[in-house]
Amino acid sequence: MTRKVHVDFGICESNGVCMGIIPEVFDLDDEDYLHVLQEEVTPENEAQILEAVRQCPRQAISVEDE
Ligand code: SF4
Repeated sequence: MTRKVHVDFGICESNGVCMGIIPEVFDLDDEDYLHVLQEEVTPENEAQILEAVRQCPRQAISVEDE
């Protein structure tokens, strides 16, 4: 089973908090649109992704089993 990052773009306010924690996964483009560059949660990025989940002011990020 893989775990993947999910962002609810309907409630994301593009403040870049997640990108500040782990820019390899979260990227805001020039038009303030958030992209998930790497969806898969790995042992290398897990701790920082979970930190982004915790710190997102809108609680827009979740990690889901697929
Ligand atoms: S921290 Fe949350 S609200 Fe901010 S850009 Fe990331 S997903 Fe959107």
